[in-house]
Amino acid sequence: MSTYLEMRRDLKNGIRTDTNRPKSGDVQKSEGKDAPAKKTSQEAKKPVRGKIKRESKKRAKQNRQYKPIQRKFLRENPVCDLKLPGCTGNSTQVHHAAGRENDRLLRVEDFKAACSNCHKIATEHSRQAIAAGNSKTRLGKPKKPTI
Ligand SMILES: [Zn+2]
Repeated sequence: MSTYLEMRRDLKNGIRTDTNRPKSGDVQKSEGKDAPAKKTSQEAKKPVRGKIKRESKKRAKQNRQYKPIQRKFLRENPVCDLKLPGCTGNSTQVHHAAGRENDRLLRVEDFKAACSNCHKIATEHSRQAIAAGNSKTRLGKPKKPTI
């Protein structure tokens, strides 16, 4: 409902005057009473195109494999390995000394039984954890067997 001159001015300023164009990706600030209803219909359509999976199929499989391994490890290692200040003594978590990326999630050689206190400290102070031998540095290339 703008006049020709207003439209021209808005075009010049880069403002779009027509509000009902379905293609625009940005959700516009609601101005009228009917705006929220329009917004929800846009939101309902969104996931079809733009939703990002929480985890890949591969990772989901690794997580499924990890759970029984984790349980077994904690059963066999009931005492916290890290023994940092504030240690509760009982292991409830698995500290991944080399990280959890990719296959490392399942690499039992790098598992350390940890209580929540020590696990938190080791994660937050990775440099000290590496110095204490509780973590491995993530820097540098992984060593491959040379033949
Ligand atoms: Zn502990």
